[in-house]
Amino acid sequence: MRRSGAPSQGGYRPPAFKVPRPEGAPVLTPRAGPTTNVPSSNPPTPDLKSNEGERHFSAIWCKCSARKHKKWEDDALLIVRAAQRLAILKDTSGKELARGSGLSIPELANLNTGNSITFGGREIEILEEMTGTACDKGIQRDEIVPRDESDAALPFHRPKVISSTVFKPFTVPTRFGTTFQPMGNKENSRISIFNKDSQDALVMPRPPFDFKRQCDEIVDVVVDPHLSKHLRPHQRQGVSFLYRCIMGFQDPTCHGAILADEMGLGKTLQTISLIWTLMKQGPFAGKPVIKRTLILAPSSLVKNWEGEFQKWLGRERIETFAVDGSNRVHEAFKRARLPVLIMSYEMFNKSFEDIQRFLQFDLIVCDEGHRLKNDKIKASTFLAQVDCDRRIVLTGTPIQNDLKEFYAIMCVVNPNVVGTSKTFTSKFEDPIVKSKQPEATEEQRQIGQSALEVLTDLTNRFILRRTQDIISKYLPSKTEFVLFCRPSAIQIRMYQNALHSLGSSYLVDSSCVLGSIQKLRKICNHPSMCDIAPELEEDMANLTFEEQGSKLALVSHLLYNLRTLGSEKIVIVSISTQVLDLMGELCTHYDYPFLRLDGSTSTNQRQVVVNRFNDRLGKDFVLLLSSKAGGTGLNLIGASRILLYDMDWNPAHDIQAMARVWRDGQKRPVLVYRLATSGTIEEKIFQRQITKQGLGGGLMDGKSTQFHFSQTDLKDLFSFQPNVDCETHELLDCDCDGSGNNVGSEPRVKSEVELRDCQIGEAIDPTTIDDKGIKGLLQWQHLLPPIGLLGDQALADIPVISYALKNEFNQTIASA
Ligand SMILES: [Zn+2]
Repeated sequence: MRRSGAPSQGGYRPPAFKVPRPEGAPVLTPRAGPTTNVPSSNPPTPDLKSNEGERHFSAIWCKCSARKHKKWEDDALLIVRAAQRLAILKDTSGKELARGSGLSIPELANLNTGNSITFGGREIEILEEMTGTACDKGIQRDEIVPRDESDAALPFHRPKVISSTVFKPFTVPTRFGTTFQPMGNKENSRISIFNKDSQDALVMPRPPFDFKRQCDEIVDVVVDPHLSKHLRPHQRQGVSFLYRCIMGFQDPTCHGAILADEMGLGKTLQTISLIWTLMKQGPFAGKPVIKRTLILAPSSLVKNWEGEFQKWLGRERIETFAVDGSNRVHEAFKRARLPVLIMSYEMFNKSFEDIQRFLQFDLIVCDEGHRLKNDKIKASTFLAQVDCDRRIVLTGTPIQNDLKEFYAIMCVVNPNVVGTSKTFTSKFEDPIVKSKQPEATEEQRQIGQSALEVLTDLTNRFILRRTQDIISKYLPSKTEFVLFCRPSAIQIRMYQNALHSLGSSYLVDSSCVLGSIQKLRKICNHPSMCDIAPELEEDMANLTFEEQGSKLALVSHLLYNLRTLGSEKIVIVSISTQVLDLMGELCTHYDYPFLRLDGSTSTNQRQVVVNRFNDRLGKDFVLLLSSKAGGTGLNLIGASRILLYDMDWNPAHDIQAMARVWRDGQKRPVLVYRLATSGTIEEKIFQRQITKQGLGGGLMDGKSTQFHFSQTDLKDLFSFQPNVDCETHELLDCDCDGSGNNVGSEPRVKSEVELRDCQIGEAIDPTTIDDKGIKGLLQWQHLLPPIGLLGDQALADIPVISYALKNEFNQTIASA
């Protein structure tokens, strides 16, 4: 990225910027020197080449209907070629079901987990992007053993195969009434393996008094101190809760639990502690409760689980077997010892028949279990057939908001608790939904309320959810900066041109809306990502990358400052791979060692990248992270700073990204930088994030075929104020002087938690900003550089910053 005028290595001085001022004086002076590298020779845009950039997703589909609750038909594979505006839906045997052509490029390019897309009369919901090996193989089943015909006729009602002729490595008594063989050394079996009287011992609850005991010899179960010394109080409580559920101490007919803690609270560690405890111990004569555990996870997290086991227990204590590309599922069947088997949902679906035939499990853990929210999903139907009633669903998503989905997940863990689907509908769902309607009578309201209370009471015994508030006192502080910068002169011209050519056509024809938004966002990200009009080409060629795009300039300064200050690492997140390409060039140009993790990083490679980045002694300074690839589960505490280059319509995605760094285990204060170009679409997205309007909900759900903007919304989105320092601050009606002293002048805005239909119990999902509305920003510090002291040396002397909003997270909690 050697631009004319851009200094090379060594004595980099931040370029002297002149951000366009209202007077409109021409500001970006052309530089002398060669102008060969015009930005049009920039990184090739991968998704604009034919088959390059083809993406594969596992998905479920149903026929299009207006019903709120879709009747999903089957699992499927979705192949997307954004550049060709093409999407193909295939069934699990590879047969083409539908084909959509002429689809919107931005819509296709932005597809992600949870999004829906409609074509060919089908609505398709995306479960997960398939990468690397999973993708190469497609999701064709039958690869292992040809399916026999009788099975093919009845794919979902196959009797449980427990053939006595088939090799069974061992049979664990899991049912009541089974007589346990006494342990070899009966003397020792009466004593707990770990000292229950030591100071920090975590002792599991004993069976309740009326519990039907398998033998009279009760031994206290004590969690291995090697693990319990790492457990936070809420995690100790969580392990104990899981234990009570899995042992049937809560209800002897149920052995399932849902751990729905918010991300970052250590669901994995709690689960590992439970598995390890049950594998080695049990309350009845000390006999271990489980021998074999199956862990199902999204393919991107399979390696992560294996890594977590090793991290907490070490290779020598426990043997895990992760089924990934190089580790075929066949090998699992041959193993005599297989205490923990980890595989993806896709692999589970694909090899289900063999798993049923060869393996028996005593505990099943379903990570990211909200994907089982529909009983028509193949994994759900298969799980219903597995003979193992000890089950744990892990999810960071509140699952109680939609009763149908909630029912489906309850069925995975404790099918008996809430009865059949019909009973559930008549007893709970109908009365509760009716009572929430505006026209509900007083009687309906009361009936609904009592149904809700009964249901809450029934299910709360098996569901545990804690929010991040619980650990914020263990976490270092988090300071969030929203940094506004004015568009460069060239960005202003491009933005105005784009709006000019759009005219007001969007008011009559909404088909151009998404494409136009995408274009404006690209201009804000960096002009080099767009087609350059001939009259601008010469000006572009005379500018450095930093002079062309102000957000890039900001990043360039920030990295320079950080590098000068010391060894702190930073994660740079973007939705766009083009942005990551450009950041990569920037790092290369200035000799900053960097790593990159995006959708094309294979599952194996991800863990390598994460470990290398988190290595304290490692040299890598920057991690470039695609927000699509880094959604959940990634632990990047090697960095204490994270920069979000662009904003997502859905605030939850940005919050997830921040939680990669600000999470349990982080020891240093965390700084979050979020960038927005003043007066542009980026500010509008930010404002919608915090007011949670999300464009009428349509776009946020990815259901772009159904979105409906109001005309006011559209006019606002396509308005442009090239001369403001921060439009959002103007919207606040705040008359502060930008010195940061506004805080405390207004009464605190108490968060009003929004209740959805069918909400059970308390509304959950508190996030840093989105439930306070835009007035919540009055509680942030408003800083107009250079009057305000940003309080972060890394932000010193960055002239492109025109305004900053700053919030210190732990302080907010303390004063709330
Ligand atoms: Zn203010």
